[in-house]
Formats: sequence, structure tokens, C-alpha cells
Amino acid sequence: MARVYNFSPGPSMLSEEVLLMAQKDLLEYGTTGMSVMEMSHRSAMYLDIYNESVQLLKELMSIPDNYKILFPQGGATQQFSAVPLNLMKTEKADYIDSGNFAHLAAEEGKRYGKVNIAACSRADNYTYIPDLQKANFDPEADYLHITTNNTIYGTRFTQMPKTDVPLVADMSSNILSETYDVNDFGVIYAGAQKNIGPSGLCVLIVREDLLGAARACCPTLLNWAVLSKNDSMYNTPNTYGIYMAMLGFRWLKAKGGVAAMEKINIDKAQILYDFLDSSTLFSGTAVPEYRSRMNVTFVTGSDDLDNQFVKQAASAGLVNLKGHRSVGGMRASIYNAMPVEGVQKLVAFMKKFEGENAS
Ligand code: PMP
Repeated sequence: MARVYNFSPGPSMLSEEVLLMAQKDLLEYGTTGMSVMEMSHRSAMYLDIYNESVQLLKELMSIPDNYKILFPQGGATQQFSAVPLNLMKTEKADYIDSGNFAHLAAEEGKRYGKVNIAACSRADNYTYIPDLQKANFDPEADYLHITTNNTIYGTRFTQMPKTDVPLVADMSSNILSETYDVNDFGVIYAGAQKNIGPSGLCVLIVREDLLGAARACCPTLLNWAVLSKNDSMYNTPNTYGIYMAMLGFRWLKAKGGVAAMEKINIDKAQILYDFLDSSTLFSGTAVPEYRSRMNVTFVTGSDDLDNQFVKQAASAGLVNLKGHRSVGGMRASIYNAMPVEGVQKLVAFMKKFEGENAS
């Protein structure tokens, strides 16, 4: 078996320990006589798994008691609709347009009310996080929506906006990679397929006072109060996804938790950015101040060389490095499960390619 270093933006690399544990449990979980996939979501054996997942996430993110932790289906995109349906009481909301997914979230919000784009870096191809000016916020907004890490453009918010209204954050591509104070947020949501587990699962953290204000037309499964009342089990949840998340949370805890992982992530990103800043061939595309620690975007300046690099890297076991079409070039997604050796091997390969191709 030859496992590769997978730099995919999502679904992305899982730790080998987690995959091996899932393999071990596949036919029989503990002494239950069955696979997790075969368990009723109402059974005591499954509820242990569900409760441990919730408890571990609570511990890892230091989530206060007045927040509800939920596991809806439908990924992060479904929450683009759920957010306005649950929170837009005055039918007004502020959004920061800092990337493709931030843009899509705002566009979805427009179906339900007046969306004010309080700051936007779209005209500059989202190479930075736009400047936030208080005067540009709608004083009647029900919430402010941000995307903490922009997966495609490789940028991240370095500090959280100060706001009097609930802050709603799409943390899909950097949840559990750095410490946050959950008290700063009204709502946090994230698709699971980057730092948590398999796709099709979403993590949703909602402050309890924000529950119960959904519109009458809100579909039942998008209504956070309904999900909360039923502990994410109004219908059959993604039972196996939640189990995989539990294994991932256990793994992260054993690594020392989010603060320890944040240090590793800073080091991993630094290895790549240091090389990019000294390279005679490659350069980073994001404005340095806002560089992401999860998604590192870079180019050679030649489409032809970019393509050759992606191809040759794949042959060397460094796969999925092609950038998103809207940025071009390359993107190395280095989420929690990417070991430091993967990044070191990538930089060594980039140096070799540079030696062979720099003019
Ligand atoms: N938000 C961000 C920041 C993302 O990176 C993604 C997926 N790459 C999404 C939302 C959409 O997530 P999903 O595919 O789980 O709906």
C-alpha cells in the first residue's frame, strides 16, 4: 500500500490512526456484534457514540453551556439557507464578501431579506480580507455573517469583527485548527470534510437564545430549534459521519487539543510561506497579512509550468495540488491531518522543480 500526501481542499486527508480505528471497528464496534453503520440511531450503543462526539467537541472548543451543539446533514451550503431562515427577524443582515463561499452565503441570504454587503474584496479577486468600517454596517441587521477562512483564495480573518449583533461564522475550512472564543459568536457552522471527518455532515453550534425565531416557512429540517429539541435526531442523522467525527475528535484530543494543533499548523504554514517568499520561481497569491494556515495558494507565473508542476508532483505522491479555476496555479490544503512531513516533502519537491525550471 502506498498512501499519498493528499493536498485536496475537501474531502481531504484523514489521519491514518483514525482510518485504522474505523477499519478495526468496521465489522464489530466493541462487543456490540454489529458495525456502527448497522446501529439504530435510537439505540443505547449509538447514543454513547453521539454523546461522546458532542462532549469531545464541547471540550475541544471550550463551548459554554449556553450553546447547543448539533450535527445537521447537508454540509455547510445548507446552512447558507438555514442562517437567514432562523435568524432574519427584521429581514436584514450584514455579510462580509471575502471569497466564493462567503459570496454564495450572501446570495442565498438575499432570497429571504435585505442583505447588506458591509465589506467586499471581490473586485480584487479576494486576495485579502476587506477592511471593516462601522459606518458600512446596517444598524438594523439581525446578524453579521463571515467566513473565517477562505478555502479557494487562501486567506483568513486574523481578528474577529466587533459587532453588537450576533456574529455568524462559516468555519468550514479552519474549525479546530486554531483557538477561538466561542463567546464571540452567535452561531458557528462547518462542513465536516476538512478538519472533522467525511462529507455530508455539518457541525452547528448555536447560542440558545437564538433558537426559536425561525420563520413559519422554514423547512422543518432546517429549523435549529427543532434539531435542538431532538438532539439532531428529528430524522435519522448521518450516524456513521458522527462516529467518524468522534474518532477525529479523540485523535485531536490525544494530540493535545486545538491549542497544540494550532502551533503545529502555524509551523506547517510557515515552512511553505518561507519557501514561497524566498523562491525564484513560485510566489504566493494572497496578501501576506491575511494568509491562510489551511490553504496555501501559489503560482509560477506560467500556466504551462503550473500544469507540469501539478502533474510531476502527483507522480511523486503529492496529489491534488491544482488550484481552483478562479485563482489558477496551485493550492496546498494542509488541514490538521496533514503531517509536517507532507509539507516538508512538498517544499523539497518545489525546490527540485525550481532548480530544474527557474530561468
Ligand atoms: N464554506 C466554505 C468555507 C467551504 O470551503 C465550503 C466547501 N469547500 C463550503 C462552505 C461548502 O461546503 P459543503 O460542500 O459542505 O456544503
